[in-house]
Amino acid sequence: MDRVTTATHCPYCALQCGMSLGAPAADHPGIPVVGGRDFPTNRGGLCKKGWTSAEVLGTPGRVTRPLLRGADGRLAESDWDTVLDLIADRLRASRREHGADSVAVFGGGGLTNEKAYQLGKFARLALGTSRIDYNGRFCMSSAAAAGNRAFGVDRGLPFPVTDLDDADTVLILGSNVAATMPPFVAHLAGVRERGGLIIVDPRRSATAALTDDGAGIHLQPTPGSDLVLLLGLLHLVIAEDLVDHDYLAERTSGWEGVRRSTAPWWPEAVQARTGVPVEQLRAVARRLARGRGTFILTGRGVEQHVDGTDTATAAINLALALGLVGRPGSGYGTMTGQGNGQGGREHGQKCDQLPGYRSISNPAAREHVAAVWGVDAATIPGPGVPAIRLLRELGEPGGVRCLLVHGSNVVVSAPDAAAVRTALERLDLLVVCDFVLSETAALADVVIPVPQWAEEEGTMTSLEGRVLRRRRALDAPDGVRSELWILRELAARLDAPSVWSTEPSVVFDELARASAGGLADYSGLSHELLDTGVAAYWPYPTGSTGTPRLFLDRFAHDDGRARLVPVRARAADDPAQRDGVLTLITGRLLEHYQSGAQTRRVPELQDAQPIARLQIHPATADRLGIADEAPVEISTTRGTVRCVSQLSADIRHDTVFLPFHYAGAESANLLTEGAVDPISGMPEFKRTTVTVRPVGGV
Ligand code: SF4
Repeated sequence: MDRVTTATHCPYCALQCGMSLGAPAADHPGIPVVGGRDFPTNRGGLCKKGWTSAEVLGTPGRVTRPLLRGADGRLAESDWDTVLDLIADRLRASRREHGADSVAVFGGGGLTNEKAYQLGKFARLALGTSRIDYNGRFCMSSAAAAGNRAFGVDRGLPFPVTDLDDADTVLILGSNVAATMPPFVAHLAGVRERGGLIIVDPRRSATAALTDDGAGIHLQPTPGSDLVLLLGLLHLVIAEDLVDHDYLAERTSGWEGVRRSTAPWWPEAVQARTGVPVEQLRAVARRLARGRGTFILTGRGVEQHVDGTDTATAAINLALALGLVGRPGSGYGTMTGQGNGQGGREHGQKCDQLPGYRSISNPAAREHVAAVWGVDAATIPGPGVPAIRLLRELGEPGGVRCLLVHGSNVVVSAPDAAAVRTALERLDLLVVCDFVLSETAALADVVIPVPQWAEEEGTMTSLEGRVLRRRRALDAPDGVRSELWILRELAARLDAPSVWSTEPSVVFDELARASAGGLADYSGLSHELLDTGVAAYWPYPTGSTGTPRLFLDRFAHDDGRARLVPVRARAADDPAQRDGVLTLITGRLLEHYQSGAQTRRVPELQDAQPIARLQIHPATADRLGIADEAPVEISTTRGTVRCVSQLSADIRHDTVFLPFHYAGAESANLLTEGAVDPISGMPEFKRTTVTVRPVGGV
């Protein structure tokens, strides 16, 4: 272990808090973690997950040798040559017998930029498959599609987080930042003092509670009615002539169609669909328009729906009508969740993209990237299919037969989890790269042990588009190999063209060249430059100093204008919006991260939240005969979850909430369905019709 303090960033969420890792003391074997005081997004603060992040490094369940499933059905330790030869042989045979698209790759939004880039290149060049996508499809795809449609580019926050410090009004729709990224709340202190924090959430979440005592307004709409709410707010902005007409004329196109699309949404009609009182709607519309420094932010609560892209578009339309976007001191943004949810969607892990956030269907983009890779552009496969379609192809006739999973625990995180498990069990070969035996790794034919965040060099890109250095503080255990090494070894065995470095700084340089001229241009960056601590916001082309704020002069469309896009609300006879029906929304807790594969292994976090609890209103529980802390059963046609009730007046009568961090019989995604947004491929996680009943035991 290096005895020097190492400056790095948290392994978990997209806020990417700065932190320092120290050396263990003789009387304390743990690795000390200190919040990075100089890093502007957290200013020394960390949440529980950050403070305890080093504990996973020494977790007892660590996988430190390749594991191979034997004839007895059990996973047993093997050696690298054996497993790499076996994987290469099976992939080659599958391609030969069933075609290149019979092999697939499923990536993750927690991988470093270097790994995400190399994984996309590996899929296209070494496997020759179009079948690659990643778990960011479950998080950011709707907001990304809306951003690309409106602005021509998608960067979660197109401004630094610190811009929020001086805001007068901040509207947050569907994001519980007080639980998911607590240090972010410090940036809302000013707006709370000014009484301008507006939270939209069906629950009185920890973030909604920040509006108490005159700090703001909490709107508590029916789950899935956010699009109507946003259409109604824009209707009021138009009706009260609060629109910024000069801005619309100078910087946008498409206003007339959007203006007409809001016509049906009188406040009374919006109240009837959303449950939000007319007076609240008027107060919010006026506050948004008249505030000095107004921001609109969306999160998964409004995006993880079959109309998620249109809902994010409606939020963008509202922000554009008010003239907020591209003006210092105001703006629109979306709160990226996973640690490298931003960078993970820029470098080629998505089924339709090449590095630099380029379209894989664009001939010029293909030529550029092919030149960097040293191949003929014609050898790069075309677009594949988004994550849910890819998962549905597993084991099907003519579908995917071999799957490589990197940095994702799909058995817990994907919707309709039981069907996903069944599909994985149908495969000829399942290879999972992970550092613990996650629920998905436990099903694999081969488990590949990889380093954790503090054992590797690399870069991440935060929710504000800032590229950050992740640094090695200690060596990985003997027997563990980096993904870059594994991909090089497999590429060599598969006779792949191009050069496959195992050195992160070299891969980053190649990534930067591949991104040159693209939307997410990293060409002016290097590990060396990032090591100086430069605030590196992309695009950062060669010779520039980066772009902390996007859209100040123009948007990324060819004409430089933002596009307003008319959107329609879903049908009113939606069963989840009828009386007597309970709607399940899933979400996160302060103590856990994503599928919980890491945080369920940290004793402090697991002790604080050891089991899944179903949040349910006391009146609803009373009607159903459910007591507090009592066993309950939640069912859909797809599956049943057994957990414990948590009675709370902080949730609507028609809504229940279940965290999705837990596995087995407590796994929330046993209930969710595979319906997706037709534009983005985002699953519907936040509006599942369920039945709930008391049971005699859990
Ligand atoms: Fe880590 Fe996010 Fe917590 Fe910061 S807020 S310490 S990045 S989990």
